[in-house]
Amino acid sequence: MYRSHTCGELRESDVNKKVILSGWVHKIRDKGFVAWVDLRDRYGITQLVFDEDRTSTKLLEQARTLGREFVVQVKGEVIERASKNPNIPTGNIEVLVEELTLLNSSKTPPFTIENETDGGEDLRMKYRYLDIRRNLVKDNLIFRSKVAMAVRKYLSEQGFIEVETPYLIKSTPEGARDFVVPSRMNEGQFYALPQSPQTFKQLLMVGGLDKYFQIVKCFRDEDLRADRQPEFTQIDCEMAFVEQEDILNAFEGLTTFLLKEIKGVEIDKFPRMTFDDAMKRYGNDKPDIRFGMEFGELNEVAQHKDFNVFNSAELVVGIAIPGGNSYTRKEIDKLTDWVKRPQIGAKGMVYVRCNEDGTFKSSVDKFYDQEDLAKWANVTGATAGDLICVLSGEAHKTRTQLSALRMELAERLGLRKPDEFAPLWVIDFPLLELDEETGNYHAMHHPFTSPKPGQLELLETDPGAVRANAYDLVLNGNEIGGGSIRIHDKEVQSVMFKHLGFTPEEAKAQFGFLIDAFQYGAPPHGGIAFGLDRLVAILGGQETIRDFIAFPKNNSGRDVMIDAPAPIDEAQLKELNLKVDIRS
Ligand code: ASP
Repeated sequence: MYRSHTCGELRESDVNKKVILSGWVHKIRDKGFVAWVDLRDRYGITQLVFDEDRTSTKLLEQARTLGREFVVQVKGEVIERASKNPNIPTGNIEVLVEELTLLNSSKTPPFTIENETDGGEDLRMKYRYLDIRRNLVKDNLIFRSKVAMAVRKYLSEQGFIEVETPYLIKSTPEGARDFVVPSRMNEGQFYALPQSPQTFKQLLMVGGLDKYFQIVKCFRDEDLRADRQPEFTQIDCEMAFVEQEDILNAFEGLTTFLLKEIKGVEIDKFPRMTFDDAMKRYGNDKPDIRFGMEFGELNEVAQHKDFNVFNSAELVVGIAIPGGNSYTRKEIDKLTDWVKRPQIGAKGMVYVRCNEDGTFKSSVDKFYDQEDLAKWANVTGATAGDLICVLSGEAHKTRTQLSALRMELAERLGLRKPDEFAPLWVIDFPLLELDEETGNYHAMHHPFTSPKPGQLELLETDPGAVRANAYDLVLNGNEIGGGSIRIHDKEVQSVMFKHLGFTPEEAKAQFGFLIDAFQYGAPPHGGIAFGLDRLVAILGGQETIRDFIAFPKNNSGRDVMIDAPAPIDEAQLKELNLKVDIRS
């Protein structure tokens, strides 16, 4: 038997017990006649004592040969500690060691196994198994497991069944590039790894399974942005005989359950906001509604004066920054520089100080009097002490820029509180999105999303105006879930494919199996998928998903621990009928 107890278990009530513990040597303090060793495992730390008088010199000598991260087993007696440590649950006791067995030695670890480690990100990723020994990472993984278990519990109690769908498939259209796998047995042919199980879950509905879920890996070969992973996990769900309302209720239920179960937070009904409203009020389809700073559109009150910048703009829009009047001129200039950075791309920023005495002072005083500025304050909801920041230009771009400023300032003002949760549904998304480069429309969600009833005809005349039965669940400014009611009629699906630029032959080649299936009585159906990594990170009060993934990839999509991706050898290439010709 390796152990009778874990290193996090023993208390004062265990004093006098003979115990066996196994774990890693966390720390050694050697006082000459006595040495203390902190023994660590997943459950905690227990202090061991090696004492010349009370045990033996030989044992003490043996303890001195130990190093950090050595794996040992000890037998001994639980005794009360003379100087107690109130910071750890086992801090009232220690184990007087009677027998020490070395189970394995260890090289000196490249960084300290402490919450505040001296190891940088790269080093920790290279030795991730050591990183996982740290409480921070370990606790995150335990937390993730708890969330996943709660999801399974809730959904299975609601009658969902978990079904595994294949990984070696054909392209699924979620709008990213596929990772592909060459087939050895089918020369010149490739599988694609699923960007999501979308088509399979729809086929499960045709198969009559009624309520499906799966906690599943998805793969998307996208240009990596910070905090994106090429492989990530979704809670993927689908239901038959449902309307949008049924899906929203079902998954509001799941989210409410998780917030209660995991965070002890009770949330009543989730607000709902249309996509158009979210864009108008927050410049963002995933608004963080934990704080105000809503957009005020100023066209009516700011145009038709002599300020040409505004007169020629499609949209003039501002936000009130609470307490912003305290910013110095220099700080405001810095903010202006911030919105003018290429990543944000604004041409400039107009500001209005709202003085305590009710007067205003703006950067455009030449064109606007106090009465004008009072109207601006009214529209943006600014009060004495605030600063109004105004951007102008093409509507969509300007909204996006002001949204970036809103989020940045909220972050700086500490308004994005990690322990406050504000979920909402964003609904009525556009069905199609214009690709500015090619001038073509593509599906905003995916090609199986159903247009709103009665809007099919609009596809011919004004495709950009068609709204879809598509929805996102947004939490604290993050999209944590998205889904739609699907097209279940094969004619409608053909019309959609046509509008997305597929010839009937192309549609058949890529999605023939789905079109075929829809000829055999596809029920009305719809679903949603939640990003598990992000959900867990937000529930855990953190923003980076990497900290909640056991073995994440870095920003260039590499696993630096196993050193992947990597070349494969000639023989393997040949077997796969692949030729790689890399010339520099
Ligand atoms: N397959 C979709 C996605 O991965 C989710 C859904 O429509 O259910 O975003």
